[in-house]
Amino acid sequence: MAIRSIITDTDPLLHKVCRPVEKFDERLWQLLDDMSDTLAKANGVGLAAPQVGVLRRLFIMNTGDGVKEYINPTILEESGTQECVEGCLSSPGEYGIIHRPQKVKIQAQNRNGKFFIQSLEGLAAECVCHETDHLDGVLFKSKVVRMLSPEELAN
Ligand code: ZN
Repeated sequence: MAIRSIITDTDPLLHKVCRPVEKFDERLWQLLDDMSDTLAKANGVGLAAPQVGVLRRLFIMNTGDGVKEYINPTILEESGTQECVEGCLSSPGEYGIIHRPQKVKIQAQNRNGKFFIQSLEGLAAECVCHETDHLDGVLFKSKVVRMLSPEELAN
């Protein structure tokens, strides 16, 4: 296991569309384990593979109940709306107000390639949308209603 460096939003890699994961092998598991260490060290909620420079469709998330892995994710359904104050490990110190679905249903594969479906809401739904956007080269800053000012961040 190792910490990988997180690239920032000026890096062209974060603006590219990622390719599907095809091999569920030790190389993938190493990446997932490294991303888990990296997310913990950064005190983040979610981390997508392109943020560590790997253009593959996977992300991990920890909303407080352990690390969950989502490989080749597809959001099947969205419902409701929530207003969130959102940031990104690739945009350090920057936060904005954004509208996300309140609930999502997501299909993905686990590290062994097995398909699963989950229904998520609140922070987990927000995070899944944010991370899935990363896999399509979309950053939260392109979707914000507005960014928070330094004065608002200080409060
Ligand atoms: Zn992000």
